[in-house]
Amino acid sequence: MTAATGRTAALEALLQAEQGKARKLEIIFGVWWRHYAVPYEFRWTLFAERQHCPYCGALLESPADGSDTAFGDTHLDHMDALSLGGEDSIRNTVYVCAPCNMAKGRRSFVDWLRQLSPEHSALARKIYIDKHGHPPEEFTRSAKSQRLTLPRIELQYNEAVLRHLFPKPIVDGPPG
Ligand SMILES: [Zn+2]
Repeated sequence: MTAATGRTAALEALLQAEQGKARKLEIIFGVWWRHYAVPYEFRWTLFAERQHCPYCGALLESPADGSDTAFGDTHLDHMDALSLGGEDSIRNTVYVCAPCNMAKGRRSFVDWLRQLSPEHSALARKIYIDKHGHPPEEFTRSAKSQRLTLPRIELQYNEAVLRHLFPKPIVDGPPG
């Protein structure tokens, strides 16, 4: 543990590996890469964002290797629920405690904010806006969830090869 960050050397190494993946996604998807970054490939990045449940303040357990979405009492929450058309991307996900995840269920984020204490409602709204770039009221429900597929094969190439293969981003906006 370093006193400055509270992060272990192992966590720093995992974060650096995820930053390398992020740079490759940026070559392929341009400024829209966060929409296409699936949470299970960026679990350490998400965990590094905060170690407390944004909805109640409970301390979160560290993620374990091999777990895609849940570890112990820590769950991955899609702020805009997948069942409402929320995106399966790092910009729409946070780690939360299991009781909050289960209490939230399929509520819309706006409904959920009303269930929280004023302090955590304000914090959760701020996190949503920071990650999405717009307030939760602007989310549009859709029957189809935005589950994404990471381009695994492309991510095995190095950045120079990717720049050659993708001289410009392959998308001009978020998935839809
Ligand atoms: Zn909680």
